[in-house]
Amino acid sequence: MSERFVIVGGGTAGWLAALMLRDAFKRQKRDAVVIVVESSKIPAIGVGEGTTAVFRQMLKYFDLDEFAFLKDTEATIKFGIRHRDWRRLRHSYDGPIDDPHLVLEQQGAAPQSYLDIFSVAAGRPVKDTHLFGYLLDQHKAPWAWKPDGTPVAMSPFHHAFHFDQALAGKWLRKHAKGVETIDAQVSGARRDVETGDIEALITGAGEVEGDFFIDCTGFRKSLITGVLGGAWVSYRNILPVNRAMPFWVDLKDGEEIPPFTLAWAQGSGWLWSIPTQTRYGMGYVYSDEFLTPGKAKEEIEVALGHAIEPRNDLRFDIGRQKDAWINNCLALGLSSSFLEPLEATSIHGSVVQLMVFTNYHLNRTPEDRNAYNAFAARQVDDFRDFINMHYVSERRDTPFWKHVAEKNIGAPAKERLERWQGKMPEYSDFEPLPGRFAHTEQQLYYPVLDGLGLLNRGVAQRHMERSPELRKKAKTAADSLTAEYRSSAPKAIGHRAFLQSL
Ligand SMILES: Cc1cc2nc3c(=O)[nH]c(=O)nc-3n(C[C@H](O)[C@H](O)[C@H](O)COP(=O)(O)OP(=O)(O)OC[C@H]3O[C@@H](n4cnc5c(N)ncnc54)[C@H](O)[C@@H]3O)c2cc1C
Repeated sequence: MSERFVIVGGGTAGWLAALMLRDAFKRQKRDAVVIVVESSKIPAIGVGEGTTAVFRQMLKYFDLDEFAFLKDTEATIKFGIRHRDWRRLRHSYDGPIDDPHLVLEQQGAAPQSYLDIFSVAAGRPVKDTHLFGYLLDQHKAPWAWKPDGTPVAMSPFHHAFHFDQALAGKWLRKHAKGVETIDAQVSGARRDVETGDIEALITGAGEVEGDFFIDCTGFRKSLITGVLGGAWVSYRNILPVNRAMPFWVDLKDGEEIPPFTLAWAQGSGWLWSIPTQTRYGMGYVYSDEFLTPGKAKEEIEVALGHAIEPRNDLRFDIGRQKDAWINNCLALGLSSSFLEPLEATSIHGSVVQLMVFTNYHLNRTPEDRNAYNAFAARQVDDFRDFINMHYVSERRDTPFWKHVAEKNIGAPAKERLERWQGKMPEYSDFEPLPGRFAHTEQQLYYPVLDGLGLLNRGVAQRHMERSPELRKKAKTAADSLTAEYRSSAPKAIGHRAFLQSL
C-alpha cells in the first residue's frame, strides 16, 4: 500500500510542502501519496510578505514561470531591505541580497569577503559593489529590453519577491499536481497508545489516516502543540517585539514601485512596508510592554501622515518549537517558528527545511528525526542572532530603545561584535549549515554591520596592508564593478513598467 503523507494547512508552508514532497517521491520513484487537509473557514495569514532568493531558485527548480508568478500573484521584485532610522534617527542603510563575490574569481586563500573588507578600509559603503544597490535606488527591474523587445537578465544574481502569501499559496496550489485535497477542519487526532504516533486526524469530514503528518496550521499549531504537546523555546529575552498591527495602503496611480522592503524603526518597534502591484502591505511590529495598540496606531498615523485601518491585531511569542519533529509529525512554517519579519527568514526557512527533509530524512528513522531537529533549531537560532544584530543601535530616544540596549542584545551578538573589533568578519566565522544551504552568513552580515557603523575601519586597513597584492586586486575589482553598475543600472527597465509589461 502507498505511504500516506498528510499535510494540514493550505497556506504557503502547506503548499510548498506538497510541491516538494511530490517532487521528491517522483525523483525517488517512491510509492507515496500526498494529501492536503485545509480549512476554507480559516484564512491563511497574508500580510504582505518578502522572500529571499531561495524562493526564486525554487520556482526555477520546478520549472515554474517566474513571469507568470509575478503576474498572477501581483508580486513585485525585491533587491533587498532599506533600514531606516535603525542606527539613529534620519539615518538609512540598505541591505542588498546579491553577493558581489559570486561574480569574482576567488583570490587564492583570500577571504570571500575581501571586496567588503576593501570597501570598509577605503571608507566606502559596501553597497557600492552591489548591483542590487543601484537597481534598488533607481526603482528598476533586473531586466533590460533587447532590441527585439524581449527582456534580458541584467546579472546572474537571484533577486527575491514581495507578495501577498495568501495569493502565492493559491498559486502554488494550482501548480502542485497530483495532490489530494480535503476541505475540513482538524479537531484532534487518534494516536497509537504505545508509541504516541498519530494514526488518523479527526475532522468534520471523517477520519484521515496517514503514515506521516506535516503541521502547517500556522499560529494555531494544531498538531505539534495541540495534539503532541510540543514545547516552545521563546526568544523573548533577545527579540523584544510581540505584537503586529498589519494594514494596507493603496498604491497611487502611476506611482513607481520600490523594489525593496522598507523596515522603518519606530519608537517601540518597527514598521514594514512591502509593495505588491496594487498596494503596500504594511504593519507595525512592536512591544506591548511599551505601547498600547491605540498608541501604536496613533504613532504610525503620525509617521505616515494619514489615518490607517488596522486589519488585525496579532500577538505572538517569538521563538521556535524545541523539536520541530515529534513522533510522526513535523511542524513547518508558522507552527514551527516565528521571528519578526525583519530579514524575511520565515518562508526562506520553510523552503530550506523542506529541502533538508526531502533530501536526507524521508526514511524517518529516529536518527533522521534527531538530525532534522538539530538542523531546524540551529537554523532558526542563527536567524535570531542575525536579527538581534540589527538592534545594536545608537538610539536611546525612547524607553523601548533604552531597554533594547540594556537588556536585549544576546550573548552571540555580543561575542561576535567583540571578535570583530579585532578582525574583520569572514566566511570562516560562520559554521556552514549541513548541506551548505543558503544561510545568514558574512554576505548578509556585511551590509548590516556596515550600515550600523559596527565595523572597524582601522582593522580593515591593517587587513589590506598585510597583502598589497590582494588590496590591488580588490581595488581593481571594486572600481570596475562600481563603474559597470553605475553605467548599466540606468539601462534596466523601470520596476512598474516591467510589471505592467507582463
Ligand atoms: C506580521 C507577519 C509578517 C510576516 N512577514 C513575512 C515576510 O516578510 N517574509 C516571510 O518570509 N514571512 C513572513 N511572515 C511569515 C509568513 O507569513 C509565513 O511563514 C508563511 O505565510 C507561511 O504561513 P503558514 O502556511 O505556516 O501559515 P498560514 O498562512 O496561517 O496558513 C495556515 C493554514 O492552516 C489552515 N488551518 C489552520 N488550522 C487548521 C485546522 N485545525 N484544520 C485544518 N486547517 C487548518 C488554515 O486554513 C490555513 O490554510 C510574516 C508573518 C507575520 C505574522
